[in-house]
Amino acid sequence: MPLTGTHINYYFHCHRHLWLFANSINMEQTSDTVSMGKWISESTYKREEHEIKISTDEDNIVLDFYDGKNKIIHEVKKSDKMEELHVWQVKYYISVLEGKGVNGVRGEIDYPKLRQKVNVHLTDGDRNELKKIRREILSIINQNSAPMTINKSFCKKCSYYELCYV
Ligand code: SF4
Repeated sequence: MPLTGTHINYYFHCHRHLWLFANSINMEQTSDTVSMGKWISESTYKREEHEIKISTDEDNIVLDFYDGKNKIIHEVKKSDKMEELHVWQVKYYISVLEGKGVNGVRGEIDYPKLRQKVNVHLTDGDRNELKKIRREILSIINQNSAPMTINKSFCKKCSYYELCYV
């Protein structure tokens, strides 16, 4: 199964959600496109004219806005509450581009409401970490049963809330 930015998001957010998503367990009227995935990315401003898609056997990604001239992946978010997740998502995208032979790419995450910008670079340490993350994601989604619930406040916004807690 090719990895996507969504798998990376869920890995950092909730391993149980990752497992449920990857094992095609969708809640009635609340498919993943309208649940946490949307919640995570709802603040992303689409700029489809600059959108690019990359599909390989291992990865399947969509970059909302890639500046090919300056080799910059742009992500625009409203809130920095999940900054770590945003940063790793962009690092993952940079690594996929590297895998396609596009080197020297960096990322910029803009938080217009906060008037902040975060620059993202991929280090050798990140490359090793991403290899580990890939292995762990595959290990999680291939488990026979879902990981335990995580009891976080954001669980109430998750489409799997009833499945997990009711
Ligand atoms: S409700 Fe909470 S524990 Fe359950 S899948 Fe969603 S985020 Fe994970």
